[in-house]
Amino acid sequence: MNLKRDYYTTIIVGTGFASSFFLKKYLSLSGQDVRVLVLEKGEDIPYSWKLQNITNTPYDFEKDLHNLTPQKSWIQNIAFGGGACWTGNTPRLHPSDFKTRTLHGVGEDWPFDYHELEPYLAEAEDIMGIAGAECAEYPRSRPYPAPAHRLNALDRLFQAKYGDQYTAMPSARASHYSVGRAPCCNNGVCSVCPIGAKFQVDLYMRDIYQDPRVTLITGADVKAVIIENEMAKGVTYRRDGKEQEAFADLVAVGAHAIATPYILLNSGLNDYALGRYLNEQIDVDVRVNLDGVENYDGGQRVTGLGIMFLNEPNRNRIPGCVVENYNIPWLRAEFGKWRHVGLLKFVFEDIPEPHNRVTVAPDGRMQVEYAEYSDYMKRGIADVKRRVEMLLDGLPVEDYVINSEEDKSLRGSAHIHGTTRMGLDPNTSVVDPQLVHHRVRNLLALGSGAFPTCPAANPTLILSALSLRSAYKLLT
Ligand SMILES: Cc1cc2nc3c(=O)[nH]c(=O)nc-3n(C[C@H](O)[C@H](O)[C@H](O)COP(=O)(O)OP(=O)(O)OC[C@H]3O[C@@H](n4cnc5c(N)ncnc54)[C@H](O)[C@@H]3O)c2cc1C
Ligand code: SF4
Repeated sequence: MNLKRDYYTTIIVGTGFASSFFLKKYLSLSGQDVRVLVLEKGEDIPYSWKLQNITNTPYDFEKDLHNLTPQKSWIQNIAFGGGACWTGNTPRLHPSDFKTRTLHGVGEDWPFDYHELEPYLAEAEDIMGIAGAECAEYPRSRPYPAPAHRLNALDRLFQAKYGDQYTAMPSARASHYSVGRAPCCNNGVCSVCPIGAKFQVDLYMRDIYQDPRVTLITGADVKAVIIENEMAKGVTYRRDGKEQEAFADLVAVGAHAIATPYILLNSGLNDYALGRYLNEQIDVDVRVNLDGVENYDGGQRVTGLGIMFLNEPNRNRIPGCVVENYNIPWLRAEFGKWRHVGLLKFVFEDIPEPHNRVTVAPDGRMQVEYAEYSDYMKRGIADVKRRVEMLLDGLPVEDYVINSEEDKSLRGSAHIHGTTRMGLDPNTSVVDPQLVHHRVRNLLALGSGAFPTCPAANPTLILSALSLRSAYKLLT
């Protein structure tokens, strides 16, 4: 037995979804003798502070970033619980999203299919208390833990037109007390939900950090993994202005898709794909003036999810997109027509490109280069009008407005993927399907960095399921 004081069975970096879902599964499958050290760069911010500072973030992530393309912003929350400020939309990937190369000749296939991930998606949904509806497009092994939220009037029109290609947005905004949270009352400020209706790690997964086997240190900025002879030995981190080290048999880095590859690059790893293929979705807003339809009677912030444009025959040329229907009452400024309006978001998939990447800046900081989204994405944006016309055809609509070109800028979508991509080939990927580094077999890179594609669906449910699967495969 190693008696060194700072020696642990496992070190986990970060306390966001990726790390917390990994830790939860890891603890459930481990004996009482394991010792887990969790190192979190941010602080444990009281929820009361968040409620009083709703537009402030506790830590300016971009100050630590050398952004070579500052016109593109990168949004990440540095604090205990990671992206606790998320909105809570939790669609699954569509089965076709795992096989775009095979089905459409574009992008990459994931190294496993929908059915392999399905049990872990269902488990993550149970943990988060997701509200959702049965939908034949997304086969399920068991029902959602909570009933779907009420659709709004515009959703009902779309559902009548598109059937199973239009469903209630699955979400971590509670629909029923049975999941242990107050039901969402649809006030739309989900970043800091005033009634705690939305699932988030800092509120609803604290128990795993209170487990006697776990030591949590906040304010610990992990800089590198110590790697010797292709084995991870521990990590170096900075806390209270001092460089420190901790050692373990296993290291799992879940610091999100910019900091995770940075930490791995800083550790001397030089895999071709490490840091590359950085990507985010792009979305385009469409405001629809409805003809006599009283909208905004739905049960949550984003009520509907349309996949009618995900699998068009031209997906090899024009990216698939999902349509989100917002239920936040952005009213129409016309007397008697206040609610005769709807707001839609067309969210596009993209093809990750290797020149968009995370590197280590000459001054040692994280560095990001992002030239532009792909030509594939540009064709998708140019095609929005055709899709809007198809979507609204035959419905009671007066007119619509697609956001201007400037609004389709390089703004951050906070859905960062791709920089530690998962695959079977070490020459083109960083981690294997269990999220274990191809060569350093006791090092894991958790999170959406593993995504080999840039799907149109929101990432958090998927990356949480990947973490559950990773811990399960590791320990059984
Ligand atoms: C406003 C907003 C709305 C969103 N809405 C949705 C949504 O509706 N649906 C959805 O699916 N996703 C949404 N997201 C995205 C979601 O937040 C992320 O997908 C999710 O948080 C990623 O989980 P993660 O654990 O990989 O990373 P994070 O949650 O970011 O956690 C990473 C953790 O690592 C820590 N860390 C970082 N660097 C270091 C370091 N060097 N040393 C130690 N610790 C470190 C961070 O402090 C953090 O705790 C939203 C994001 C934002 C910002
Ligand atoms: S819509 Fe309101 S109640 Fe519902 S999760 Fe968001 S902030 Fe909370």
